[in-house]
Order: sequence, then C-alpha cells, then structure tokens
Amino acid sequence: MTFSLAVKNELARIFDKNKCCNLAELSALIKSSSSIQITGGSFKLTFVTANAAVARKVIKFLKVLFEIQSNVMYFKRRCFKKKNFYVLRILEHSSVLNLLVKLGIWDNNINLPVVDITKVLNRDCCFKAYLRGVFLASGSINDPKSGYHMEIVVNNTKYAKSILNLMDKLGVDAKTCMRKNKSIIYLKDSERIIKVLSIIGAHSALLDFENARIYKSVRGQVNRLVNCETANLNKTVNAAVRQVENIRYIADTIGLDNLTPALKEAAELRLNYPDVGLKELGELLDPPISKSGINHRMRKLEEIASSLKNKEFKS
Ligand SMILES: [Zn+2]
Repeated sequence: MTFSLAVKNELARIFDKNKCCNLAELSALIKSSSSIQITGGSFKLTFVTANAAVARKVIKFLKVLFEIQSNVMYFKRRCFKKKNFYVLRILEHSSVLNLLVKLGIWDNNINLPVVDITKVLNRDCCFKAYLRGVFLASGSINDPKSGYHMEIVVNNTKYAKSILNLMDKLGVDAKTCMRKNKSIIYLKDSERIIKVLSIIGAHSALLDFENARIYKSVRGQVNRLVNCETANLNKTVNAAVRQVENIRYIADTIGLDNLTPALKEAAELRLNYPDVGLKELGELLDPPISKSGINHRMRKLEEIASSLKNKEFKS
C-alpha cells in the first residue's frame, strides 16, 4: 500500500460530529471529483474516485445528509496505468440540484456554478473538513522515506487560489505551479506537511511520517559522524607516515645514536610500530608516557629532520 493510500484510508474513516463540517467535506469531494451533465435542463452527477474507502464515505454522506441512494459502478481500466475507478451516479434531477445548491456548488438564482467556496465555509470548524475533502478527492503524498512532497491537483486556477487562501487561513503556506494545464498546490517542507496531516486528522499517518523523518535525521547524523571518524583516521595515518619519514631521514643523515636517549627511544618505537596512534605509542614506552608527551617528542624529531633538510639544501 502506498503512503498516499494509507493516508486516504485513514481520512475516509473520519466523520466529524458537526453537520456543517460534513457538508463542507462533501462539498469539497463533489466539487473536486465530480462532473455535472446537463441535458435539456436536467442535471445528472457523476463522482469518480480511485479509492474504495473514499467512494464508501461519499455514499454514506449522501445517504445520511441528503437521503440519496447513489448507483455505484466499478471500472477496471486496463489500458491507462491499470488504475481502477469507482463511479457514483446520481441521476434524479431534483436530488442533484438540491445537493449542489446545498453544498454551495451551484447558484440556483443565476443558474451558474459557484466559484467562491466561502459559502460552505461560514464556520471555522468547517475549514479543516473542507481541506480533508479536497485532499481525499485530489491530493497525494509521497512516502516520507523517499522524500517530502504533498500535492493537490485541481482543474482551474481560481479554485486553486481559493484552496490556497483556505490553507493560508489554517496557517499553512503552500506553493502553486501549473502542470499539463492543471493547477498544482504543493508542499515540500516536512514541517508544513506534518501540519496539514494534523489539520485534516491523519494522526496515525502523521506518526509514521514523524518516525521516517527521525530515522532519516539520525541516519544523517550517523553518516556525518562516520565521515568525521574517517577524516580523523586519515589524519592519524598521514601523521604517522610523516613521522616515520622524518625518523628515517634522521637515521640516514646523522644516525639515531646522535639523538637524546628519550628521542632515540621514541624514534625506534615509531619505526617498530608505524601504524599505531600516538596514545597507544606512548603506552608502549617503558615507563609509559602520555599522548601529549609522545606528541612532543615526535614534534622534536620533526624539527630536527627539517633543520637537517634545510642544512642539506643550503650546502
Ligand atoms: Zn463545521
């Protein structure tokens, strides 16, 4: 099951207590996913969805709120992306007209569709329900494991604008763009997506989203730590290689016997153990000395080697 489908299945099971909110959600569902056929002044309505749970929710809304029994047909489309569709049809003119007028989709006085959606949003409680309806009808969300993206696809720019306004009122700052003549309202920021999931009531999807986000961020931190460790290890190896080169140079020029006993001891130990860290090298001495103590001796050896190199260069 895709993450989008899981979110929709969760949302399809939510029924608000208030009738005003149910009407707002149904209005969004019908406006976003239906077509109206007008023949000889008679209205027929067709609602289409790819999601069985969404179809069931619309059937229940129609029955409870309007006492409308809708005919449901199930289509298997093999040719186009193999998506299956549920088609709900309301054929009786007076039922369709009453429904559309009550849902603020059709203005009976001027006999035209209503562009403004605020008619069904006269109470603050209905804003969230309307957005839920819009998402159920035309929204989708990526699996957070692969990336953060939520979008709502609508047919006209005016409707897209009113959804943007609605989201703005709910405190969500979304973006829009056009794709194949459709308006896309989208979010790419995980915080904003979480906010929308919370607003529309997808609480268990929200938990999954949060978990995926935390997992991603911890994995990122671990990767950074590993990279940092690798960098440190490279530094240690490079330092040891340089120390061995210096000691060999001293041995070849003035000989290790010309060093102080402490430096000679450290130099011989480094040659015997070229690949251990400084701390461990210090502990191998008898008596053992601290990391900073052995580091001091290595620096001394480096100074001697470079002054010898300088002399050779000058002579
Ligand atoms: Zn309400």
